[in-house]
Formats: sequence, C-alpha cells, structure tokens
Amino acid sequence: MNAEKYLTVPRLARIPWLIHGFGTKDWRLRDFRSRPEWRKFKMFWLDQVHSHEMHFIDALPDRRRKGDALATRLPGIFLIIKTADCLPLFLVDESRRVVAAVHSGWRGTQKRIAEHAVRELQAHYGCQPSSLLAALGPCIGPECYEVGEDVRREFGAAGLPLDMLRPHPELREKYFLDLVSANRRQLESQGLKEKNIFTAEICTHCDSRLLSYRRDPNKTARLFNFIGVKPQHSTL
Ligand SMILES: [Zn+2]
Repeated sequence: MNAEKYLTVPRLARIPWLIHGFGTKDWRLRDFRSRPEWRKFKMFWLDQVHSHEMHFIDALPDRRRKGDALATRLPGIFLIIKTADCLPLFLVDESRRVVAAVHSGWRGTQKRIAEHAVRELQAHYGCQPSSLLAALGPCIGPECYEVGEDVRREFGAAGLPLDMLRPHPELREKYFLDLVSANRRQLESQGLKEKNIFTAEICTHCDSRLLSYRRDPNKTARLFNFIGVKPQHSTL
C-alpha cells in the first residue's frame, strides 16, 4: 500500500516476522498509522547526538534517551532512526529475532558506531556476527559528500583507514567521504559476511525522493527509517 513511500531490502522483506523500511520524504510519522495492522506498534526514537551509544529496548522506556543506536527483540516496537544525508543502518539476527537500527554520519563512523553495535548485540543478546544481516540505507553518496581536512584528521586520529576519503580533484584539503564503504568495512571487521550486507546505493543528495541536509533549504526535515518485530501469531 505504501510501498512507494519507503524502500525495502528484498532479503529482509522475506523474513516473516520482520517489518522494515527506509522512508522517502513522502513517508511521514502519521503514515505509521495508515496501516491498521501497524497501529498497535509503539514508535521509539532517540535524541540523536552523533555518539556511538546503543540503547537496548527490553521494556518500553518512559522517557527519551540520547544516543544513536537502538536494539530490541520485543515485538510491537518500531525502532526509528531519523536521517537527512547520514547513513541509516539496520542489523537483523534472523534466528534470535533481534533487530537494531543505527544512525551513522561522519562522526558516528569516526566513533566506530557500526563496530560498537555489532559487539553490543553479541554481548547483550548473544548474536553471532557471522549470521547477522545488515542493510545500509540511502545516504549522501561518495560523489557528493565533500568534507574538510578536519574530518580526515579525526579519522586518522581514530586509526581508521583513510582510503575512504578520496582527495578532491581540484580543491586542496577537501575530500569525498564514502560513508557506505566505511561502515561496511566496520561491519566486516567484526565478522559480518560480505554476502549478508546489503546496500541501497541511493544518494540522498542526488535523489529528489529523499531529503538532503546539504541540498534542501529545510534543515529540520528528516527521513524516517524503521524496523520492528511483528507481534507473535500475527497475520500481518
Ligand atoms: Zn549524490
């Protein structure tokens, strides 16, 4: 019904207990209520602060929290990550029915949030990295994400590979950052298999269906990316 308003990953769409989507700009909060089967879901999101902090939702929290990654195995909760150029990243443990949603811009990438998320899922829920599925949604692409020397310096200080920053062909001390590759590499460094990592290959800056902080005049608008576990015995 709303298939055109959010993008899905075929491998994840085949999992019967899972609901997920990377929202376009036409997918608004009220749309979560447009499908009767989804109305019982609670929605949860964080005050995103470009950290590497993950929160586990083992009971529905009574207050908002600061952080940039969420994980749960409770049915009936949508974990929501808001983006406009940053990378939304989902992790799924198919056998343990665990889902996670991560917000990774250059700061989160520099703080290794994808690596942290995998390790935390392992510690908290016993997830095996080799069986985790990862979906990297639309974000600003490597042809469009121009960053300065400050970003390169911080990546270097964190010991991250600098080949994710391609020197600008014309401008000194300017680079193009490949967020998807940088996060993919972090996932692989933690034991995820290449075949289990799926990427949208869509640039928020180039694709007018999406929102781009760098392109759009409205700097507060965000895309809503969501993942959740269906209630048991549901026929959704
Ligand atoms: Zn682009």
